[in-house]
Amino acid sequence: MDEICGPLFEWYDKHKRDLPWRATRVPYYIWISEVILQQTRVAQGYDYFVRFIEHFPTVEELAAAPEDEVMRLWQGLGYYSRARNLHAAAKQVVALGEFPRTYEQIRALKGVGDYTAAAIASFAFDVPKAAVDGNVCRVWARLFGLDTPIDTARGKQQITEVAQALLPVAQAAKYNQAVMEFGALQCTPQSPKCDECPLAHKCVALATGRVGELPMKSHKTKVMPRYMSYLYIHNGEEMLLHKRTANDIWLNLYELPLIETASAIGAEELFCVPEFVAWHAMLPGAVYKGATGTVKHVLSHRVLHTVFYEFEVEGALPCPEGFVMVPLEELGRYALPRLIEKYLEEKIGR
Ligand code: SF4
Repeated sequence: MDEICGPLFEWYDKHKRDLPWRATRVPYYIWISEVILQQTRVAQGYDYFVRFIEHFPTVEELAAAPEDEVMRLWQGLGYYSRARNLHAAAKQVVALGEFPRTYEQIRALKGVGDYTAAAIASFAFDVPKAAVDGNVCRVWARLFGLDTPIDTARGKQQITEVAQALLPVAQAAKYNQAVMEFGALQCTPQSPKCDECPLAHKCVALATGRVGELPMKSHKTKVMPRYMSYLYIHNGEEMLLHKRTANDIWLNLYELPLIETASAIGAEELFCVPEFVAWHAMLPGAVYKGATGTVKHVLSHRVLHTVFYEFEVEGALPCPEGFVMVPLEELGRYALPRLIEKYLEEKIGR
């Protein structure tokens, strides 16, 4: 055992968390867990993983499910393209007849990138391929004092080469798990536990006082604001929803009628926006209650400034093309973005 993997494995045996996907070699389960954990904390991802696997115990059942059902189960996890890709890739696996076993075959599944392919291949099939995620980048960048920005192709390649060179061929799964866990619990982004680190004596960042500086990044993602006014139009029994088809955020999720503007607008200015005027004209006699909810929702590259305006209609609702009329008690069957779900929870207690 070499000077790095020896102490690392010892640390891992002592500190690793007991997570359900660690106890399995079933590629389908590993794949689902890896996709859920891509942008999600373990604590939140755990419940979703258990629920997803209970609902779709096999890849065949996932492939055969309607997309709405998959999206509904994913609701609240965000980054919905992950769910769509999972569903499409499940169909690819079923068409192949078995779960692919090589790195290249797994990498060819829809939505599966370098990291996920290496993780599945090594955890399920012992393929000696280093999996490189954010945790792994941080550990090796600090330990070896690598200062090429990790969000550049060169930086990623450098770390991947280091990670691959260190991988003990007979213990690929344990190695990948151990480095990731070490990054998640020991060599953390803020306040790494350097004073009780088993690799401290080899750590270049510690020796040169660069722990806080590494890993380097070339630029931060520019965060853009979006201004969204949602109309909650209902008659106490039914409401209007619309399935999102714009390929930006929330593709194929359901939302309330939306008016999006280039800048923030107040309730009065809304009466100058043609779409709002058209809805208002379509709802004669409705009680307009004004703004009944405000949410600021932060995504990785967008900040959504959202205001909800409510119309209570007496009698039948108009249902223009592209909209669906949904009984309030059936709302649970529709996959909604989390911020809309939260608003409706408060309004109608669903
Ligand atoms: S000494 Fe600190 S920075 Fe270096 S590997 Fe250990 S925890 Fe990470």
